[in-house]
Amino acid sequence: MNQNLKNGLIAIVLIAGCVWAGSRFFGAVKSSENNVDFPEGAIWYCPQEDKEFSVSLDDLAAWYESNGDVPYPCPSCGSTNTLRRQAAVH
Ligand SMILES: [Zn+2]
Repeated sequence: MNQNLKNGLIAIVLIAGCVWAGSRFFGAVKSSENNVDFPEGAIWYCPQEDKEFSVSLDDLAAWYESNGDVPYPCPSCGSTNTLRRQAAVH
């Protein structure tokens, strides 16, 4: 059940990414609409727990400011072996 939920979520993220890329490509969508997809900022992925978490752009900027290019730590297990999945509009 959880697996289904997760797969659905990943599909939505992928579709949203395609839609976002498509709309950027055609230049028909205003930038303000892009913010609706990822209002929290950036989506990150923790391979250790196989789960995603979001980081606000403010938090991300603050983290990079003091830690350089170290990936943002997972809020759940604290690992910095994380991957950035998708960014909101800069
Ligand atoms: Zn984790």
